[in-house]
Amino acid sequence: MKKTIHWFRQDLRVADNPAWVSACESGAVFPVYIHDTENGRDEQLGAASEWWLHHSLESLNKSLGGALNIYAGDSAEIIHQLVRKYDISGVTWNGCYEPWRVELDRAVTDLLEKEGIEVAVFNGSLLWAPEEVSKQDGTPYKVFTPFFKRGCLGAMPPRRPLPEPKGRYGRDPESVELKELDLLPKQGWDAAFYDHWKPGETGAFQRLESFLALGLKGYKEGRDFPARKNVSRLSPHLHFGEISPNQIWYAVRNRTADDDVGHFCSELGWREFSNHLLFHFPYITKRNLNPKFDVFPWDPDEKKLQAWQQGKTGIPIVDAGMRELWQTGYMHNRVRMVAASFLVKNLLIHWKEGERWFRDTLVDADLANNTASWQWVAGSGADAAPYFRIFNAVTQGRKFDSDGAYIRSYIPEISRLPDKYLFSPWEAPENILREAGVVMGSDYPLPIADLKKSRADALAAYATIKEGG
Ligand code: FAD
Repeated sequence: MKKTIHWFRQDLRVADNPAWVSACESGAVFPVYIHDTENGRDEQLGAASEWWLHHSLESLNKSLGGALNIYAGDSAEIIHQLVRKYDISGVTWNGCYEPWRVELDRAVTDLLEKEGIEVAVFNGSLLWAPEEVSKQDGTPYKVFTPFFKRGCLGAMPPRRPLPEPKGRYGRDPESVELKELDLLPKQGWDAAFYDHWKPGETGAFQRLESFLALGLKGYKEGRDFPARKNVSRLSPHLHFGEISPNQIWYAVRNRTADDDVGHFCSELGWREFSNHLLFHFPYITKRNLNPKFDVFPWDPDEKKLQAWQQGKTGIPIVDAGMRELWQTGYMHNRVRMVAASFLVKNLLIHWKEGERWFRDTLVDADLANNTASWQWVAGSGADAAPYFRIFNAVTQGRKFDSDGAYIRSYIPEISRLPDKYLFSPWEAPENILREAGVVMGSDYPLPIADLKKSRADALAAYATIKEGG
């Protein structure tokens, strides 16, 4: 009987998995996951992502009745050895778009094809494969709206989801136990994560069902309010491929076709856009997309960076977001934008520092989305927020958390302040602070940046690079 390897990567699911379906249909299949530890390939995996990956692999292994073959090492070498050991005739996988994975794909393909092994690569993670979307002149898009409307929606509808195939699995006794990958943290910082997340395909579907029932209606407006339940929180499930964007796309569109659905689908479109950018401009993980920013006068300050990371900037909406991130591995999108803008514009700290922290702490840390979003906020990216548009973190808090529910849930030490001063506690008169039991500078920090002055400084810094382009 023909034997095929399916190489699971960022597609940790058995339903709607085109490469997995192809492998299962061709005979016996060896389900394989390789934690690539060579050449620093998985160096970009943060601690929160490692936590997620452990549980996601556990769940996948369960779906496969314990047949997942797990390895740690060099992907190309391990696949090569398995092919020889088990007389494998084909290898399938779903393409990934992180630059190191693209390179690895090429190397593995070359190696296998030289040995006469059939390689079949599918698109299992995006609605539109980035290599298939381009402008009429053949160049990649750099602006979202034409990318999504013309390049994606105007081309063809996304592929319909595929059912889960039946497989006959091959088991390699020399594969390792999941715990040998050593992905779980040594200290117990992950305790609260279990209250918030259920990694794996079943958890992804439960999340989707709950979003369809409770979040989708009112999404367009509600998605901006961090205390509301309108966002899906599907991002980590999507990142690890526990659910496909196609399954989500058709599940929401089968419900209704209104503004909420349209808006939600356009957010999935932003994910496509980030991957399009990463695929065509792989250097954006390290360099500004807009080279004008290469000479931007950033002002590195370790103490301020730490205050930001720890949620101790003295600006409540920023601190609430950073604490939500630390406690749950997630931060609401509106607050991500405000916290990121505060770092790069009010503190003038390089976007790469923020990107690195998010990469380590987010359960949905995703090279494409994280890089593109940080560059978008900084003003150096594609279709970016102009540098001179600087969020006022106090106004943002008042507007999107008007009753203070979000801030109060993450910053209990100022929760007794009246709404009037909750967003800018340093402005509260002494008697109000006393009544609320807050000593500024002791219970809660004084702001590490004056919003008005830092705004003016940022504009002056921007003026130094504006002439260049
Ligand atoms: P929903 O509103 O329910 O949206 C559904 C899906 O659409 C999301 O799961 C996500 O896959 C996609 N999506 C939504 N908004 C965006 C967006 N702006 N850009 C790209 N895709 C989007 N998203 C990540 O998945 N990983 C990251 O590492 C990441 N880093 C970010 C860093 C910064 C500074 C900012 C401003 C945004 C970042 N985002 C990132 C984008 C966005 O914040 C998250 O995708 C979103 O908050 C995830 O929550 P959700 O699943 O509830 O989103």
